[in-house]
Amino acid sequence: MTSDPTRLSAAELADRLAAGELSSVEITQAHLDRIDAVDPKVHAYLHVDRDGALAQAAEADRRRSAGEDAAALMGVPIAVKDVVTTKGLPTTAGSRILQGWIPPYDATLVTRLKQAGMPILGKTNMDEFAMGSSTEHSAYGPTRNPWDLERIPGGSGGGSAAAVGAHLAPLAIGTDTGGSIRQPASVTGTVGAKPTYGGVSRYGLIALASSLDQAGPCTRTVLDSALLHEVIGGHDPMDSTSIDAPVPPVVEAARRADVTGLRIGIVRELTGDGYAPDVQRRFDEAVALLTDRGAEIVEVSCPHFEQALAAYYLILPSEASSNLAKFDAMRYGLRVGPEGVERPSAEQVMAATRDAGFGDEVKRRIILGTYALSAGYYDAYYGQAQKVRTLVARDFAAAFEQADVLVSPTAPTTAFKLGDKLDDPMAMYRNDIATIPANLAGIPGLSVPAGLGDDGLPVGFQVLAPATRDELMYGVGAALEAALLQEWGGPLLDRAPALETMEVAR
Ligand code: GLN
Repeated sequence: MTSDPTRLSAAELADRLAAGELSSVEITQAHLDRIDAVDPKVHAYLHVDRDGALAQAAEADRRRSAGEDAAALMGVPIAVKDVVTTKGLPTTAGSRILQGWIPPYDATLVTRLKQAGMPILGKTNMDEFAMGSSTEHSAYGPTRNPWDLERIPGGSGGGSAAAVGAHLAPLAIGTDTGGSIRQPASVTGTVGAKPTYGGVSRYGLIALASSLDQAGPCTRTVLDSALLHEVIGGHDPMDSTSIDAPVPPVVEAARRADVTGLRIGIVRELTGDGYAPDVQRRFDEAVALLTDRGAEIVEVSCPHFEQALAAYYLILPSEASSNLAKFDAMRYGLRVGPEGVERPSAEQVMAATRDAGFGDEVKRRIILGTYALSAGYYDAYYGQAQKVRTLVARDFAAAFEQADVLVSPTAPTTAFKLGDKLDDPMAMYRNDIATIPANLAGIPGLSVPAGLGDDGLPVGFQVLAPATRDELMYGVGAALEAALLQEWGGPLLDRAPALETMEVAR
């Protein structure tokens, strides 16, 4: 048994806390020490709250020794993506326009973490306003993949995935609008879960595309994701799209890890062409393992997925252009006076601030969105995209008649090199080809590690379930994880090179 708390899963940490073998202060301090030692190489964090985390840990220890009814994860620390508002802690969404902004309130999910007694280690790096698949669009510099520091950790939530993958946090919060929890999990060898739309409150998330955004867990095991899902999930009157029903029995399903008799559908449009051969091989092997465990495999077709990416890149920019209008230099963060203008108008300050405060990708999408929503083009672009969205949802409904869950590779390739796709937005967008349909339809999705590609880098396996049936994906993910653990003789992440000996070349 390891004595290093940073190597333990959240479930294991919870057991040690309950047994009195470790205190929350010890666990939190161990993570802060490791952040100091290796995060300068990874850059998973934008802000580390040392004093706050230790104070919350001491409070969790006090509550436990006072015999208070302990929540399952009480005392287990967590990192939070910087798009989630945290009272008194800087929240930038990876953008220069929010530099220095300190939110006056907590997101609902943060309130729930605090109520559960989970110390918040800090805020994690991300693509600006969650736009991207590599974390290279952060205004504060990229995060690196703990498997290979010259590679991307995925995006937009590369900071959360890298924090968990590099053992800089046992758990993290991500948000997924088109894949930003699942694709980073895929390329870092970690687990990421996007709950059903409305399953976790969006109150206090800085909105990217409100009809697609969903917060969820980034962890190293499926059970840890389920445990965290139960903490942050459930109805919230502050979010009008929040589902008014109990959280699905995700922990129970993750513990049972049973696929006997389950019909697993392989989506024809999400395999083969466009997927790297080694990614496809790991996927096929994972399917075979699930068959060995008693699942029944069927092939399904979702013909409108071909148009999903195009529809997403009209709907997302449309909603984003509207959501980002509030960054007007008056209410939050940055304010820039235009140069050489003596008494600038509000409009001139706004224009200068938005020019200086937003990065290229954000500007690209604002322009795309305002164009798609403009009077003359609304029907041709936004309207058509909404129709495709309905067809994608119908494809899913038909597929779920034939199968209980659907599976695919999470991403078409393993982690690419930093800089590789930075000048080619379309190539960057194509990385989310397999994750985007779930957001359009509002259904839940999970990514679990499926092994390594020919380049020695992690490959992810995606499980999709019908809306509000999140437990099904946890059951399948846990079954696959158990089968692979047996085959590998230990967690995949144990094969990642030691960060202590790695060098940052650029
Ligand atoms: N990579 C996708 C995008 O750039 C997904 C982003 C996300 O899920 N936040 O839009």
